[in-house]
Amino acid sequence: MSEVMTYAGLCPGCERALILTVDAPDRRESVAEDVAEIIRASLVLRHITVEEARGIPFGCRCPKAHADGQVPLFAEETAP
Ligand SMILES: [Zn+2]
Repeated sequence: MSEVMTYAGLCPGCERALILTVDAPDRRESVAEDVAEIIRASLVLRHITVEEARGIPFGCRCPKAHADGQVPLFAEETAP
């Protein structure tokens, strides 16, 4: 079990990654902060391998940008 894990915060609208933080023992404090940020931003929290994280496209592509830091919750799916 030497697989490196990472926490990912995915946009609930387009499921692209907005936050990725490697879950390493020496990063415990910043990992905790990043996970708190993911939850605060209402993102979808995933605990996945770095390899899996590489397969997730980065950056939200929702029609409505998260300009003000607000993440739309499933609201933008029907936008043109
Ligand atoms: Zn999005």
